[in-house]
Amino acid sequence: MDLNYSPDEAAFREEVRGWLSANLPQDLKQKVASYAHLSKDDLLRWHRILAKQGWVAPAWPKEWGGTGWNVVQRYIFDEELGYAGAPPLIPFGLTMCAAVLLRFGTEAQKKRFLPRIYHGDDFWCQGYSEPGSGSDLASLKTKAIKDKDSYVVNGQKIWTTLAHYADWIFCLVRTDPGAGRRQEGISFLLIDMKTPGITVRPLMLMDGAHEVNEVFFDDVAVPAENLVHEEGKGWTVAKYLLGYERMNTGRIGESRRQLAALKEFASARIQDTRFRDRLSRLEIELMALEITNLRFLDRMRRTGQPPGADVSMLKIKGTEIQQGITERRKYLSMRKTTIYAGSNEIQRNIIAKMTLGL
Ligand SMILES: Cc1cc2nc3c(=O)[nH]c(=O)nc-3n(C[C@H](O)[C@H](O)[C@H](O)COP(=O)(O)OP(=O)(O)OC[C@H]3O[C@@H](n4cnc5c(N)ncnc54)[C@H](O)[C@@H]3O)c2cc1C
Repeated sequence: MDLNYSPDEAAFREEVRGWLSANLPQDLKQKVASYAHLSKDDLLRWHRILAKQGWVAPAWPKEWGGTGWNVVQRYIFDEELGYAGAPPLIPFGLTMCAAVLLRFGTEAQKKRFLPRIYHGDDFWCQGYSEPGSGSDLASLKTKAIKDKDSYVVNGQKIWTTLAHYADWIFCLVRTDPGAGRRQEGISFLLIDMKTPGITVRPLMLMDGAHEVNEVFFDDVAVPAENLVHEEGKGWTVAKYLLGYERMNTGRIGESRRQLAALKEFASARIQDTRFRDRLSRLEIELMALEITNLRFLDRMRRTGQPPGADVSMLKIKGTEIQQGITERRKYLSMRKTTIYAGSNEIQRNIIAKMTLGL
């Protein structure tokens, strides 16, 4: 096992770091450092700066704008973005919908949607969860009934992050309520948020922020050409996408930056030994997370295999560390990290089943 970066990888890190220090706008960096609200314009400005540099979608195939970087380079890039304090790249279009289109989309769907995602022309959101169907996603009820060349959608999604910014939503819908297993009869639809019959209502989080929404569908007509993969095979698409959703929840670079800021703040002011003990503990846990991540990277580098259930470990530890580090400034806001992208209890179930064979 080789847990060191090669000289080429170290040089790549320097290149990324140098570019970020010259190109990350100071006002955005300051907003991120002070946990200020990032507007849609802020998010898109940064997205477009990276798109212009050709770095906004490193994992995509080169023909669609990917960089051709290997898995370690992509990890280094993510870590440096977090460490530099760059605004997040919203994953719904770039990481999730794009991965699905690249794997299951028709050529026409790829040509229509991928370039617009790349350039930040369309803002996407994710319509999976419903009231009563979060962890138990396969129980979802939003219906889509085929009527000639359209699906007519009725139902409700909930916790839809940034739906109030979105131009498009990708949705899991039930196209065959009579199918034998619950996982059958679900389909994956791309829906234009401007379609008549869609209502977005804000849900305020307990820190007062407006991030998530309810989205209601009332006889919404969706062209049949917006179905991805086969009708009734949406569960296959859904599971494929969830792997991508969990990939980047560890956020090691961001945690390193926040921990460094916390240590600087605390060193001169806080002598309390229990506080210092907690801080040291967090630092050690973050180092352990980094080493675990390097182990996965080494295995992926050698075998070319995706990480599978291991991603769940990074999600659990990464989000617990994020909560620990940000307790001073973002206690209420960060409770969500152990719930979204599959709650940490569900991640533990995945590890128990897939890794420990329980
Ligand atoms: C801030 C935020 C943003 C979100 N953004 C989106 C989004 O953009 N799009 C989207 O589709 N969804 C989104 N979600 C929804 C998220 O995926 C769900 O909240 C999550 O899957 C949990 O589902 P639930 O809320 O229905 O809780 P439930 O599934 O009802 O779970 C309640 C509690 O029971 C536990 N639990 C449930 N089942 C089990 C089990 N089998 N074993 C052990 N424990 C269990 C859970 O861990 C949790 O603690 C978001 C959620 C939040 C908080």
